[in-house]
Amino acid sequence: MISMKKYDVIIIGAGPAGSYAAYMLAKSKIKVLVIDKYSFPRYKPCAGGLTAKAFNSFDFPISKEVKYSTNTVVTSYKNQIFHNISGNKILVKMVERKEFDDFLIKKAIDSGATFLDGMKVTEVTWENAEFCIKTDSEFFRCNYLIGADGTNSIVNRTFNIVERDLYGFAVEINCPVSKNNIGKFNMTFDFGTVPNGYLWIFPKDEYVCVGAYTTNKKMKNIQKYLIDYIEKLGLVPESENFKGHVIPHYGINYKQPDFPCILVGDAAGFGEYWTGEGIYYAVKSGTIAAEVISSSIKSGIFDHQALQRRYQKEIIQGLKLAYYIGKFFYGHLPLSFNLVMSYLPVSIMYESASRGLTFDQAFSKLPVVLSSLIQNKSHISNNKYHR
Ligand SMILES: Cc1cc2nc3c(=O)[nH]c(=O)nc-3n(C[C@H](O)[C@H](O)[C@H](O)COP(=O)(O)OP(=O)(O)OC[C@H]3O[C@@H](n4cnc5c(N)ncnc54)[C@H](O)[C@@H]3O)c2cc1C
Repeated sequence: MISMKKYDVIIIGAGPAGSYAAYMLAKSKIKVLVIDKYSFPRYKPCAGGLTAKAFNSFDFPISKEVKYSTNTVVTSYKNQIFHNISGNKILVKMVERKEFDDFLIKKAIDSGATFLDGMKVTEVTWENAEFCIKTDSEFFRCNYLIGADGTNSIVNRTFNIVERDLYGFAVEINCPVSKNNIGKFNMTFDFGTVPNGYLWIFPKDEYVCVGAYTTNKKMKNIQKYLIDYIEKLGLVPESENFKGHVIPHYGINYKQPDFPCILVGDAAGFGEYWTGEGIYYAVKSGTIAAEVISSSIKSGIFDHQALQRRYQKEIIQGLKLAYYIGKFFYGHLPLSFNLVMSYLPVSIMYESASRGLTFDQAFSKLPVVLSSLIQNKSHISNNKYHR
């Protein structure tokens, strides 16, 4: 008979969702194993932009991992009409995912989690109230399973928790820029060039990450928009190896099954439709999953409805709103661009984003946001110009 090591919780995937869930569980003295198919540190296609709601989510300092912080965002329409929107609050902190994910999993290990990297999970089964996890070299057992294994999640494919029908795509490349010249670049979003999406520039310390995102899963050739953009910016990509990945939006239909297997982050489909943001939702869902499992272990009962209620209130509600706003925005360009970039809407968005509010929280806290704007606490400016 094959001997199988047993854990309270096994987490498949050591991205931000899995690592943060592991960190939270290990802190509660729960026996947790994280398995990732790649050897860490590993590359992950991602621009590494942490919005205020994301960088405020960690309960430890992340300042050493931050390459660049910004209180300014430039938006443009077809790279011709520009808005330089600035204030006195940090909107986004940029990290490098290879380093950042390594930092997060080390936090989990330091708190007591076990991590096995370079080990691919090939089969997952649920029998006699236990999960059996088969990898390319070993078997493990556990009472609770967290699928943090990204959009192609083996956990989701095995248990059919959420249908993967709604998604977009993003592609990116880094372009080296000297430290002296990095100040010439602002965090920029260009709308109207890529159909149903945008082009971005995210400055880091010695390079800018330039990318393209579309909400349209059927779109081919997104890369050609990116190549044209890079040329117009006068940048030279570090290689011809453009890296892309699916951005899931299907989490708005997530339904928690009654057995103790929870999907988190991209595996659950928690990517924001309008912006493509995913790291915040990864960390938030990882936190919720860890908290629900911790109380289930204490009570001996897995309350799947509690998990669904929290996902609904703290994640899905905001994602749904972002979905409808995004549908309207991309479907009505350039009218929607002019509308959103006018002074009051843009100031509300700046204030809400810098406070780390989700879309639904921004609506419910509108009076507080407006009162702060009236007092001009954030000194928001919005300069429009043409090129
Ligand atoms: C080009 C691009 C740019 C982006 N930019 C941003 C941005 O600036 N800001 C932002 O907030 N979001 C961004 N996103 C989205 C963000 O990258 C994801 O939402 C985020 O990485 C999700 O984290 P996660 O932990 O759920 O999954 P992941 O980070 O995808 O981690 C999943 C892990 O599971 C492992 N795994 C998968 N299958 C198995 C298996 N069978 N066995 C073992 N391990 C397995 C993988 O190796 C991986 O390490 C971007 C996405 C793309 C594609």
